[in-house]
Amino acid sequence: MIRQKIVAGNWKMNGSLESINVLLDGLLKMKDSNSEVVVAPSFPYLSAVSNKIAESNLVLAAQNVSQEEKGAYTGEVSTSMLSDFGVKYVLLGHSERRSLYAETNDLVATKVKTVLDSGLTPMLCIGETLSERESDKTLEVCTRQLQAVIDVIGIESFDKLVIAYEPVWAIGTGLSASSEQAQEVHQSIRAFLAAMSDTVSQRVQILYGGSVKASTSSALFAMPDVDGALVGGASLDAKEFLEIVKAAG
Ligand code: PGA
Repeated sequence: MIRQKIVAGNWKMNGSLESINVLLDGLLKMKDSNSEVVVAPSFPYLSAVSNKIAESNLVLAAQNVSQEEKGAYTGEVSTSMLSDFGVKYVLLGHSERRSLYAETNDLVATKVKTVLDSGLTPMLCIGETLSERESDKTLEVCTRQLQAVIDVIGIESFDKLVIAYEPVWAIGTGLSASSEQAQEVHQSIRAFLAAMSDTVSQRVQILYGGSVKASTSSALFAMPDVDGALVGGASLDAKEFLEIVKAAG
């Protein structure tokens, strides 16, 4: 099964209109790539980024969305608003949302359903903390996070989303998982899904995230079950990010 690689830049709460313009000028020099290249700016910049990348191969993602469709939800943003700006992907379940904004497995699952129902594609982030890894609970945590979503959307819809395995201990720490560690978890995730649907397990793209850098990305992308990367810090530097894209092929 050939799965297209995805390289996605999660800009988090960074940048200004000015710095984002500079970053995009760099990214728009991108050579043709077989991978799908995605950028996820903060909400206020979606419009500007959408206009600027309109004629390019870059694809737009949002970093979060409401589980509600519309109404009295001050401060929230709906899927239809994201669609108005040409957004394709929505990051959900990122560890920063889970830990800093108390997003539970159930809420993440509800958001995944809302996003799928709207025709957008969730990028579902899962991953264990350091203490969970040290107590051998990596797979247990990842499968619990996945199962909560499967319970809501069903296994047959599970290849309509993208999974991002992001060990919490590797996010923003400079401590990337080794390519072998990533492969081991990705393979186990695929085996977990295969027990329910072989087709879905073969189709679903599983990205790795957590301190991905240009220097380590080739080894990562050589792993058979790693279908790309979700990149935080290194996605704020056009040259570094494009090297990661190049490594993805
Ligand atoms: P990082 O972030 O690359 O800065 O570790 C990854 C992420 O949080 O998606």
